[in-house]
Amino acid sequence: MSTTPLPELPPGLAARPIDPKRGLPIPAVNERPDGTADFLAIDGRTAMILAIQWHCSLCAKPMSSLVAFLGGPKSAESGAYSDPPMHEGGAEAALTLCPHMARQHARRATERRASQGAVLPEGFSEAKPQEWVMVLTGGFRTGLMPAEGGGTVPIFLPADYERTRRFVYDDGVLVEKTGS
Ligand SMILES: [Zn+2]
Repeated sequence: MSTTPLPELPPGLAARPIDPKRGLPIPAVNERPDGTADFLAIDGRTAMILAIQWHCSLCAKPMSSLVAFLGGPKSAESGAYSDPPMHEGGAEAALTLCPHMARQHARRATERRASQGAVLPEGFSEAKPQEWVMVLTGGFRTGLMPAEGGGTVPIFLPADYERTRRFVYDDGVLVEKTGS
């Protein structure tokens, strides 16, 4: 098997186990109890525990006063996220490395539906946004939402945004939108 070196990772992510199939670090919330990866489903319980402890959902290490949430423009507008908070550096790495985010035409929705245990809060779209928004905040609340198909999933509600960073597709590749 040939391997390609990864772009520089934040130390926390670099310390994560690597998924042998994709060659990517396994985020804490995507790790199954047996240690394998499910990149399409977030473990709601792990997500909630890490968030309440103010630990990063990707590397599971403590976060500083500012935490990052990553989602589409609708999440940023509504202030409600199905994905838990993470380090800013981890969010940058996710934008670069996650095939779902990095490339405009990568497919995920059908894969996701086929993946066991992949549930989204009711009313959450799984369509891929045209743009990704990273919000940095000093606080957030957590809650539980009814999930499609029953049960509940955690939801994360960031407080006032300290900063917002926008990423758009340029020629199919994600780049940061700077200035305004
Ligand atoms: Zn992290």
